[in-house]
Amino acid sequence: MAGLLAGKACIVTGGSRGIGRSIVELFAREGARVWYFSRSEAEGAAELAAAAAAGGGSVERQACDVSSEAEVEAAIEAVIKASGGLDIVVNNAGITRDGLVFRMSLEDWEAVMRTNLTSAFLVCRAAARHMIKRRTGSIINVSSVVGIMGNGGQTNYSASKAGLIGFTKSLAREVSSRGVRVNALAPGFIDTSMTDKIPEEAKEKLKTGIPLGRTGSPEEVAKAALFLASDLSSYITGEILKVDGGMGM
Ligand code: NAP
Repeated sequence: MAGLLAGKACIVTGGSRGIGRSIVELFAREGARVWYFSRSEAEGAAELAAAAAAGGGSVERQACDVSSEAEVEAAIEAVIKASGGLDIVVNNAGITRDGLVFRMSLEDWEAVMRTNLTSAFLVCRAAARHMIKRRTGSIINVSSVVGIMGNGGQTNYSASKAGLIGFTKSLAREVSSRGVRVNALAPGFIDTSMTDKIPEEAKEKLKTGIPLGRTGSPEEVAKAALFLASDLSSYITGEILKVDGGMGM
């Protein structure tokens, strides 16, 4: 049976580890031709190749720092040239530089905004232009529940994630009539290198605020991304889908 994304050309930013890497693997398993953008090679390259072989898809890395306008423009152009037509974009790359606002440097504020929010603008500007012409496409921006709820110590991060929600809804209003759907995921507390840094005691406390009583896995977020990327969600645009065990309800 053909996969849900058979033959689709996809870009996943930040696909080298964590949530992005799980999305790359699942999409390739579903038959997609995936190009992931990152500054380093993906973990577990052999498993990625096996997933692609099993699903009839492919996985390739495009070295790209998503905070650089020139690098994003060049990387998207290279993928469009190689693929012949871009179908799906997942803006997943993200960083944290946590700290209380009165101690936060402008550099930490700007680094987070540029990597998490400006990058999505740069990628979408280049990709949506192309998708509109073909009258098809699905764009998924990876926001966060803290973009909805806020979180002390993460003013820069939560502002970037709230910005992504406004960006998603506004872009959906601009391009949906031309066949391009734009949605966002808002993950809760997911086990990746990003959350590894949180002390064990703080993690246990955080879990008490999650109705499902546990943290989520990158694979669980990838399944939601697959839903939004595929035709399973053909009548959904401008939506923010929480994948958070009920944390943000
Ligand atoms: P992660 O394990 O730290 O992975 C981050 C990914 O982003 C890596 O692949 C990294 O690749 C890439 N990246 C960072 N800066 C980049 C840059 N300038 N250019 C290109 N790629 C860059 O984090 P994660 O937990 O999987 O997070 C993925 C996304 O989910 C982020 O947007 C994050 O904010 C969001 N999120 C995570 C959670 C959570 O609990 N984990 C919750 C809500 C939302 P390189 O370092 O190789 O460049």
